[in-house]
Amino acid sequence: MNNIALYGAKPIRASKLYYGRQSIDASDIKAVAAVLQSDWLTQGPKVRELEGFLSNHFQAKYTVTTSSGTSALHLACIAARIGSGDEVITTPLTFAASANCVRYCGGDVVFADIDLDTYNIDPADVERKITAKTKAIIAVDYAGQPAALAELKQLCEKYNIILIEDAAHSIGSVCDGKPVGSIADLTTFSFHPVKTITGGEGGAVLTDNKQFADAMRLAANHGITKCESDFAIPTPGSWYCEQVMLGYNYRLSDIQAALVLSQAQRMDSFIGRRKEIVAKYNAAFCDLPGIITHQDRVGNDSCWHLYVIRIVPEILGCSRREFFDALAAENIQPQVHYVPVHLHPYYRKLGHVPGECPVAEAVCENILSLPLYPALTDEDVNDVISAVKRLHCFFTSRL
Ligand SMILES: *Cc1c(COP(=O)(O)O)cnc(C)c1O
Repeated sequence: MNNIALYGAKPIRASKLYYGRQSIDASDIKAVAAVLQSDWLTQGPKVRELEGFLSNHFQAKYTVTTSSGTSALHLACIAARIGSGDEVITTPLTFAASANCVRYCGGDVVFADIDLDTYNIDPADVERKITAKTKAIIAVDYAGQPAALAELKQLCEKYNIILIEDAAHSIGSVCDGKPVGSIADLTTFSFHPVKTITGGEGGAVLTDNKQFADAMRLAANHGITKCESDFAIPTPGSWYCEQVMLGYNYRLSDIQAALVLSQAQRMDSFIGRRKEIVAKYNAAFCDLPGIITHQDRVGNDSCWHLYVIRIVPEILGCSRREFFDALAAENIQPQVHYVPVHLHPYYRKLGHVPGECPVAEAVCENILSLPLYPALTDEDVNDVISAVKRLHCFFTSRL
């Protein structure tokens, strides 16, 4: 029997690979340096240029850039007028921010289960969980694959609720021929370093609804307006402004906007490289019993944010924990996306319990994400494949 690094063999590679990583080049550095030498560091021409670019590229009338994907989600919930007593339905297979944004507004989070093949929220379970209090659905495009947006939109029309799409994973994905950003009532992006394109931090909300866009701009800027036509009292001078609500500082800076704009020029090649790597992984893993790959839904063209595999412990001959540790020992550091949100202590204290979303809970027991980012070389990709094959061979022959 062969051996593996976890039990003393030499690791497949010497340096660690992580599941995600930014790609920064000289043009990015030049773009950021130019802003540092300009008159504007915070909101200036680059923020406006980025908002124009995003609206144009993703076919939304309005884009409001934000300090993060999380603040984008909060602003979307503010635009949707989520408040105390309202319910918002989302998936448990996501980063906590997709649910926390509802809590910031005082609303209650309801978790609907996922589909076993796509890992995205299941519209049938969403419909079962709709009540008279349901105000919005927050769909998450898990791993880059657009959620069942057509079905969810139908539900939203039928029950008069708002569709928010957390597209942190799916910047550049296409659903039934339409770019993500042009489909939901409100779509949120994140420019965190592991996402399709980065600004270090940053985010955006895209919408066709002017009222939503105005409400979000106001809330992102302390609730302070400089628009004379909005003033409650006659303006005493051109310095005057009014705070009309309790807002926040959720602004993106020109430094970050310049980086996102520079990255956006390489977005297609980033996504192309991600797809190439996914094709190599799929070809290598398709005939490994006990390892299930994540397939793109028909009609989706995913930007492939994550490469998620699900193991079947009885067939593979090891637990997820042992497989995870064994991969890490080979210097292929995996990650688990995610711990089901409703099972975190914070949500349990609010009354959520195991069994609420049985499919998501079962899937979360056995998934892990392999390295996937544009800067991976063919050699890196081959190391990942060799490591998975080595573990597969070792564990199945141990059975
Ligand atoms: C990254 C991420 C966010 C939060 O984005 P930040 O920019 O880190 O605040 C929200 N939802 C999902 C699904 C994410 O992956």
